[in-house]
Amino acid sequence: MLCNVCLEYRADMLTLCKDCHQTAYCSEEHRLNDRDNHSKWCDGLRINFFYDGTPFQTSIPENVYLNIHFNDDETLPKPVPKDTFGLASVMLLKDIQNGDSEPGRELAQHIEEFKLAGMFSHVGTILHVLQKVSLLEDVQSELNIFVLGAEKEHLLFNIITQAAFFAHLPNLRHLRLCFIGPNVDKQPKSVGHFAGNRKVEIVTYRYLYHKLPKTVKLPKPHLAIAFNCGFNEFGGTSQQTWDKTIRQILNIPNVPFAFTSYTLREASEDACIVEMLANFITQSSEEIVYVVRNAVNPFRQPIPLRNPNLDDEDHVLYYENGYLSVCLMQSE
Ligand SMILES: [Zn+2]
Ligand SMILES: [Zn+2]
Repeated sequence: MLCNVCLEYRADMLTLCKDCHQTAYCSEEHRLNDRDNHSKWCDGLRINFFYDGTPFQTSIPENVYLNIHFNDDETLPKPVPKDTFGLASVMLLKDIQNGDSEPGRELAQHIEEFKLAGMFSHVGTILHVLQKVSLLEDVQSELNIFVLGAEKEHLLFNIITQAAFFAHLPNLRHLRLCFIGPNVDKQPKSVGHFAGNRKVEIVTYRYLYHKLPKTVKLPKPHLAIAFNCGFNEFGGTSQQTWDKTIRQILNIPNVPFAFTSYTLREASEDACIVEMLANFITQSSEEIVYVVRNAVNPFRQPIPLRNPNLDDEDHVLYYENGYLSVCLMQSE
């Protein structure tokens, strides 16, 4: 640890911030100097410090009731709640709050609610994207989604979170989620059944998308998405595995391509990379259009993580699925 102001490093000189336990000062003077700046991060750092690292729930927690009664008479989509907490509250029939409004709440409860809300980050992001590209109204009985660069994401599409699709898309009966990536946790195809002949099919493909064997027959996607994509990490290196995948996905006409990033800096690099790749392949009659670009994702994971990049002073903390971009190849 170093003093957050003067970088003093001698341990006997330093005292920790008593709230977050993650920031040190050499003197009362330096603590006061840093107070305005630190107040932006202290709450998040505190959550991060006390969060025990348990991954987001993939099974139904105790004392939680699930909202899986779908109304068969409705045909209009239900508006998607405004953020992860709203979606979790609707689906778990429980008021799950972002702690800001309730200062007196116990930290443990606060973190518990963050974890519950966090389960809905991926599903919520997809619903949010569908709404942003005005596809929510168009979804009929089938919906096919490609998750590219997938690793363990399919574990978060459990019975609790899958139900959120049906709750918001009343015409949907068959959802196919294709998780594609060289590091995907391979698992046999699974089908989850819900009331009224609704079902969710989860299939994993342990390949780079552009290297899928010809024998693999994928449905035509309505949406492709890469969570915490990290395109920027490969930019300019020989390991440009994303390039071919992105070009291939952009080549499918009128399929929105969404991706999330950790920080604003990464998000803007990721969006530039995709734009550049699109410009390589565009026919004169097409252009890439960003419907959302580097926007704070209201469905980001709520638990803050520490940014290992200490130069990025705007992001002492970051969030999984923190920023969102959605683009589309459009014919003029
Ligand atoms: Zn100091
Ligand atoms: Zn603090």
